[in-house]
Amino acid sequence: MISSETRICGLIGDPVTHSVSPVMHNAAFDFLGLDYIYLPFAVTKDRLARAVDGVRGLNIRGLNVTIPHKVAVIPFLDRLEPLAERIGAVNTIVNDDGVLTGHNTDAAGFLKALQGRGIEPKGKVVVLLGAGGAARAIAFALAEKGARLTILNRKQELDWAVELAGSVSSFSGRKVKALELNEPNLKAALVPADVVVNATSVGMSPNNGQSPVARELLRPGLVVFDIVYSPVKTRLLSEAEQAGAVTVNGLDMLVWQGALAFELWTGAKAPVEVMRKEVARALGGTPFGGAVGAGERKTTSVALVGFMGAGKTAVGRVLAEKMNKELVELDSLIVEKAGKSIARIFDQEGEIVFRQLEMEVTREVAGRKNQIIACGGGVVLNKINIDRLKAEAVVVYLMASPEAIQERVVAGDAEVRPLLGDGDKSLAIRELLAFRQPFYRRAADIIIDTSRMGIEAVAEQIIAGLKRE
Ligand code: NAP
Repeated sequence: MISSETRICGLIGDPVTHSVSPVMHNAAFDFLGLDYIYLPFAVTKDRLARAVDGVRGLNIRGLNVTIPHKVAVIPFLDRLEPLAERIGAVNTIVNDDGVLTGHNTDAAGFLKALQGRGIEPKGKVVVLLGAGGAARAIAFALAEKGARLTILNRKQELDWAVELAGSVSSFSGRKVKALELNEPNLKAALVPADVVVNATSVGMSPNNGQSPVARELLRPGLVVFDIVYSPVKTRLLSEAEQAGAVTVNGLDMLVWQGALAFELWTGAKAPVEVMRKEVARALGGTPFGGAVGAGERKTTSVALVGFMGAGKTAVGRVLAEKMNKELVELDSLIVEKAGKSIARIFDQEGEIVFRQLEMEVTREVAGRKNQIIACGGGVVLNKINIDRLKAEAVVVYLMASPEAIQERVVAGDAEVRPLLGDGDKSLAIRELLAFRQPFYRRAADIIIDTSRMGIEAVAEQIIAGLKRE
């Protein structure tokens, strides 16, 4: 139970809605019976200084830091652990009585994941793709362990790779090459390579179909480490597996960087397997993830779940047309059954009656074949609904950022969106979304981030995802 003694940890970034860190850390605290809680805080760039000050003011025990603050946060800290200083980026902050120390557990998390597969970096020829925040941490971690590195980054930011190669060289005393990321360079660099690491965001959801390495360049014995963790099995890893390469996924690194942060905050040994299980479950349904195994079920329908404004009905309409299936909207069926609008049901009979109606229509619809089912935002809160839907449908979570949702949910739409109330809509969206996110993730066989995508593109992506399932 939360009390005045409960220690608070959290994550700052923008956005943070996609993060699985809250699920991972809270499961670990629960497992060890520690009186800690981990919360996601969406912090825009202009509020970073005040947010860090709040850590001192509220005696928050520690934070994880994610995009876009990993570098920007440094001037607001009191101390930097030497590796974080060398890397020039911080992903973990520890607060000791108002003194804030910046750490970088991405570096050690990467090494733990690699070594966990029995691969020692010393003397290995490693090709590192990318020169962003994560690549910096990995480059220093590998150099410190005696690996021989070549860094490739795309043309427009080749300067970053050159700068990174220069700093890693002077730190390790070994020459580090920097090249433009293109096929001829990659082909040549991979000839003597033992390991290739993808530290670019290529292949990350929603662009799951992309790979930074052409299939023909992959071969048996090569170690292919993709640090992208959503989806867990990226196209690169899938093709590497087919080519007989040894694969390491980003989930391992994610869990280890989290475990190391956990240990810094609590002083307790992290329950790594518990954390891994929770993260795998939260990420499990993504395309190429394979954890949920929708492919093993014989399904003819698709159920679209997600927050209000995620586009379930609009996407459902296009998808129904493209796949030649019938569109069914659960909320419309509820309105029909009750003979009144959803806002009226909430108003006159309350949310419990609404949820009962929702369960009834879900049961009626769930067994039918060849449907595109646009579900209400709260369907996922009841596991019975999801189990029923899964008997015949692949569940697709249409994810969207709070900003995208706010833009799409028309102002003054209270008649249709009773859960947002009359107050600050933006706050209501953030709070409700943060609460529901784990339910959506848990239910999903496929997750698609729709924040920056049009309806057609989302429908196409679902069809591509279904083919891979
Ligand atoms: P970042 O600082 O924004 O760097 C992104 C990198 O990807 C840059 O090198 C960028 O190149 C490159 N890139 C982006 N789009 C590209 C494209 N179309 N073609 C070629 N290169 C492209 O991000 P980050 O923090 O390093 O994160 C990178 C990835 O690692 C993300 O997918 C993130 O989720 C993942 N990650 C995983 C873990 C883990 O624990 N598993 C930890 C941290 C990050 P330019 O410089 O040319 O833009």
